[in-house]
Amino acid sequence: MVSLYYNRTRFKLTYSDIIRRGLSKTFGKCKKIWLLFPGTPNLDIYIASTGFGNRLARIGSKLRGGIIVETDSSHELEFPADTLHAVFTTVGGFLAGINYSTAECLPAMSRILKAHLPIFHTSLVTISEDTQSYIDALSSTPQIELPAVLFGALQSWVELRPAIQELLDSGKATPSFRLKMQEFTERLETFGRNTRSALVCGYGEYVDNIGKHVTGEHKIL
Ligand SMILES: [Zn+2]
Repeated sequence: MVSLYYNRTRFKLTYSDIIRRGLSKTFGKCKKIWLLFPGTPNLDIYIASTGFGNRLARIGSKLRGGIIVETDSSHELEFPADTLHAVFTTVGGFLAGINYSTAECLPAMSRILKAHLPIFHTSLVTISEDTQSYIDALSSTPQIELPAVLFGALQSWVELRPAIQELLDSGKATPSFRLKMQEFTERLETFGRNTRSALVCGYGEYVDNIGKHVTGEHKIL
């Protein structure tokens, strides 16, 4: 989804933005200042602050390797899914932004979702949307068929699955979240039928038929 903002100032770290790749462009005279921090080692610090308010103030002094970027309408700014970023406006105007997910985003998405699932009972709409992005990116992965990408994608699912199962078992999941998970189970079964390569599964075991293994050992419901 492409979003258009006027004088957007988000000088805070928002996990829904971090979870996807970002591409932003300003128009006209609009200028923005961005604070960008790479995922390593900062994502761990961010995840450790899950559940606290005003997270940028809380963890800002611990973040490492940050850069400050000024953009105007002659620039587009693109950054990977695990980039911690905050933005503020120096000259007002329009900013267009798109957040999107690819198979390479899955490991970071999985880690961030896993940390937030247990505390997001009050905001299940957001978590449902983010889980949907994750599922869409994961479902599109088998067609790519690069072993490294497929491995990262499967590992992200193996690590996220227990948190999703726990949310479903707790009875706190909304009907729409349950429905999404049922649809996902069907997609996982389709993936299992179509993917027969020998590969190392997320927990490090080598299996002859990764599709059959994942649908047998790592499904939900
Ligand atoms: Zn396994």
